[in-house]
Amino acid sequence: MPKYYINKKSDSDIESIIHREGCKSLKADSKELLGYFSNYYDAVEIAKIRGYMPASDCEHCSSEYYYRKAANKK
Ligand SMILES: [Zn+2]
Repeated sequence: MPKYYINKKSDSDIESIIHREGCKSLKADSKELLGYFSNYYDAVEIAKIRGYMPASDCEHCSSEYYYRKAANKK
């Protein structure tokens, strides 16, 4: 299962961003481990529970999430 991290927002960011391990956009200095999840949605749920919402999905490592969102609209 993929490991997911959150980049906690700093003063200059609008919101926190959820990343998969290994993403180039993941910033090492503000990352916190969310855990191992089979899908992106579960990582979002944990981010909510920890109070990191609003958090956005990363355009680089969460493309599968975008595809599923699009597929669900059909
Ligand atoms: Zn990412």
